[in-house]
Order: sequence, then structure tokens, then C-alpha cells
Amino acid sequence: MFSLRNIIKLKYLFISVIALAFVLSTLISVYSSYKGNMKLMQEQTLENNRVYALKLAETVDKFIINSTNTMRYSAAELAYDFDNINKLQETANRLYLQGDTFSSVLIVDTEGNIMVNAPESLGEAGKKVLSTKRLENYDKHEPFISDPYVSPTGRKVIVISMPIYDELGAFKGVLSGTIYLYDSNIFESLLGEHPYENGSYVYVVDNKGKIIYHPQKERLGVDASTSEVVVQLLKGKHGGLVAVNAFDQPMLAGYSQSEATRWGIIVQTPYDEALSMVGQQVVSIFKIGLPFIIFSTIFVFLLASHIVRPLEKIAEISENSVKDQEMKKLKGIRAWYYEVNKIQEALIHSFSVLHGKVNTLKEETSIDSLTKLLNRHTFEKKMKVLTEQQQNYTLVMLDVDWFKSINDTYGHLAGDEVLQVLASKLKESLQEGDLACRYGGEEFILVYAETTIEDAYERVESLRKNVQQIISPEGKALTFSAGVAHYPLHGEELKDIIAKADEALYKAKKNGRNRVEVTKA
Ligand code: GH3
Ligand code: MG
Ligand code: MG
Repeated sequence: MFSLRNIIKLKYLFISVIALAFVLSTLISVYSSYKGNMKLMQEQTLENNRVYALKLAETVDKFIINSTNTMRYSAAELAYDFDNINKLQETANRLYLQGDTFSSVLIVDTEGNIMVNAPESLGEAGKKVLSTKRLENYDKHEPFISDPYVSPTGRKVIVISMPIYDELGAFKGVLSGTIYLYDSNIFESLLGEHPYENGSYVYVVDNKGKIIYHPQKERLGVDASTSEVVVQLLKGKHGGLVAVNAFDQPMLAGYSQSEATRWGIIVQTPYDEALSMVGQQVVSIFKIGLPFIIFSTIFVFLLASHIVRPLEKIAEISENSVKDQEMKKLKGIRAWYYEVNKIQEALIHSFSVLHGKVNTLKEETSIDSLTKLLNRHTFEKKMKVLTEQQQNYTLVMLDVDWFKSINDTYGHLAGDEVLQVLASKLKESLQEGDLACRYGGEEFILVYAETTIEDAYERVESLRKNVQQIISPEGKALTFSAGVAHYPLHGEELKDIIAKADEALYKAKKNGRNRVEVTKA
């Protein structure tokens, strides 16, 4: 019959389970290495960005300190020669060219008008660039770093200014270095305009959170003071955190503040880019591992087949009937591990037992092949049950008269046919609960259940008359003689009843055959 149980084989189950385990463990290890690397990558990127931001802040500080020192020195020098316009121009040119620091260098008088400017090509001399209000700030002897603002020349600038005082302490003017925010400037050379391979970039905010440097020019001047990173910076902190940028992209940001300027330097890497690198890493790890996975899959497949092989063989053999040949095969299986060994032993044992049983069973269950009546063995078993149940019955033993002569004259086959015809007549005469058995060669036993001996006699008599109608091969009437005995009237055990019936039969033969004799009580 079609059944899944016949299709699902251990080998496939085994291999499926192993494959599943393989796939799961690979997935788990890929997943956990992905997760682990993600965490590591995030931490590392944050740390790198933090350190880099710190470094850049220091660089900016150094630059500002250098620049202001140079300006302080130049301002002191100019104080003596402030009327020498050539000297002023020379100083402005030197500062402009020196170190690519400033987009332009100006010297203005006490009114805020440009006296000289470098590069000279600007041609802005005479223009008023500083308000009197602003000049008041220069009453100090310290350099001043402005907020970004739009200068009167129309440029967005940051200005580092140094007031010039003469030896008597009189205010002479201002030496200013400007940084044009929208043009190539010192930030680019300091902070690097290079976007990194992983999409990292640097930007700078002033001490109010306004963007003063950004690789995307359109972001310049934007107020970023509400951004999470800038909030931290404005609190004077430095560190690293995961935060979204202005476009809601998650970023791994490191940030630090320049001490001299209070500008904030932010170095950030798009989270997704860092993540995709981890993905690539995991894929490359997986690729490296792939040949090993394939190799071990094949190895495990072979191993599984080897383990399952003896069981497969046993199953094949069990499927076929237990022939001697199969038994030999069964014994030939190399049962190299415990379970198979036990199954093999059990099968060998049960097959041999089965063998014996089948043989006896055959004998026991089969009816007589010639007459299709019960054979003697079955008959005896049935009688045993009957006796145990203490049912009364009448037993008729009958024997064909002069049977030998039929055999002798017409041969055994003719004799067999006569036996078959007679048997069918006997069968026809049975009632419910009766038995008919071929007891010996041409001897039969009939058992009438729950019958009185008188009734039984009547029935055998009528059977005798019926059989008499059969014409034997010899052309004569076929006759039998019969002896009748009753249980429990004539004995307590089957063998006694049979013996009594046999005696009666003998008597019938002696009294001339073709007759029925009843055991006398
Ligand atoms: P009677 O019983 O009347 O004394 O004479 P009989 O010739 O029948 O003698 P008996 O009962 O002793 O003979 C039995 C014969 O039945 C012997 C044997 O050759 C024959 N016989 C036994 N079994 C078979 C059988 O299966 N087929 C055939 N054809 N003959 C059988
Ligand atoms: Mg006989
Ligand atoms: Mg006989």
C-alpha cells in the first residue's frame, strides 16, 4: 500500500537533518559574525572618528595659534612703520602668501577703511570694511576671531584680526586675515576635502553651531545648533555617537572642539556604509569558508551513507520474504555499530523462529488437500475446544467398503476421485456446529454437535442411503460402514469416544458392511 512511511528513508532523513544542521550553523555563525562585526565596526568607526576629530581640532588650534602669533608679531612690527604704505603692503603680501592661511589679508585704519590688501588684485583699498562699533572690540591687545559674517565686500568670511598699537599705546589700525568660506580655503587644506571611501566626511561649526566648513557648499552657513552632535559640542564635550544627520541618515559621528576658536569639528561616517562594509566582510569570509563547507558536506554525506548502509540492507531484506537466501544475506551484513548489530541479531532470531512457526502453522491450518475436509490435526484441536466447553456430541467414524479393490482395479487416481465425491456428500450432510474430517486414508469422522445418539443414528442412516446412490468405478453402489459413539455417554475423552466409534465400525464391517453400528451404553 502507498504510504509515506515507505518513501521516507533513514538515509534521506539523516542527510536532511545534517544538511539542516549545516545550514543552520552556517546561518548562525554568519549572523553572529555579522552582528559581532557590526558592533565592532560601529565601535571602531566611532572611536576612529572621535580620535580623528580630536586630531583635527588640535590641528586647527595649532594653526590658529601660529597665525595669531604671526599676526601679533607683524602687528608689533608695523606699529613703528605704520606710515610706510610699502611696508604695510609688503607685510600684507607676506602674510597672504605665507602658509596659504588666509584668503586675503587687509590692513585697515582707525576708521575701518582698507589701507592695503593682499592679494593686491582685489583692489579694495579705500573701502570701509570694519564698522566703528566692531573696531571697539580691538581695544584689547589680543587677536580677535570673528563669527562668520557677510563682509562689506559681499563675501561670507571669518576674520582673524589683530589690533595695531604704537609704542605710546595709541590705536593705529587693524591687521586682518580673512577666510572666504565659499572659496578654496585653509579648512580644505587642513581638514581635507577628501571624502573617504566609506563616505566619511568632516565639517566644522562655529561656537554658535553654524556650519563654517562643509564639503557640500550648500550646507555652509546653515544653523546646525539643534543637531544632536552639535548640542554636545556646544556643551564643550567631545566623543562619539550614533546620530542622524540633516537628511535623517544615521551617522557614526566623532566630534571635538578647538580650544582656541570654540569651533566644533565633526567627523562622520554613514552608518549604512559602515554596515555594508561589514556585509562585504562577512560575504568574503563566507566565500573563504565555502570550499570547506562543500568539502565537509560531501564528507558528511558519505559518512551518513556509510552509517545508514547496514540499516538499508536490513530493511531491503526485511521487505522481501524470509527466504533462506535472504537469511544468508542478513547474516552477511557487516553490523559495525551497536544498534545495527542488535537489530541484525533480533532479525536473525525472529526470522528463524518465524521459519519454524510458518512450517507448523502451514500444517496446522491447512485442511486436507484432496477432500477439502478438516485434517486430523485441526480436527483434534477443534475437538479439544469442544470437550473443554463440555458440549455433548455424537461422533461417527466411517470407512469405505472394499476401497482397496477400486484402487487395485482402477488405480489410485480413480480412488482419489471416489474419495472426493464421498467427501462432498459428507459435507452436504453437515448442519451448523458439525464437523467433518478426513481421519485417515479412506476413513472419515463426522461430529454432530448437541445430538442424541438416536437422532445421530437416523442422520447417518440417511447419509448411508444417500451415498449408496453413488456408483463406483466398478459399476457398483459406493458404500461405507460406520460406528457411532456419544460424548459424554461413552467416554470422558475424545480418544475414548474415537475408540468406541472404531469398535462399532469394526462391528459394522464384521456384520456385513454397508451398515451403521451404535455403541451400546
Ligand atoms: P474394508 O475397509 O471394507 O475392510 O476393505 P478395504 O479395501 O477398504 O480395506 P482398507 O480399509 O484396509 O483399505 C484401505 C485402502 O485405502 C488402503 C489404501 O491403498 C487405500 N488408500 C488409503 N488412502 C488413500 C488415498 O488417499 N487414495 C487412494 N486412492 N487410496 C487410498
Ligand atoms: Mg480403511
Ligand atoms: Mg475400507
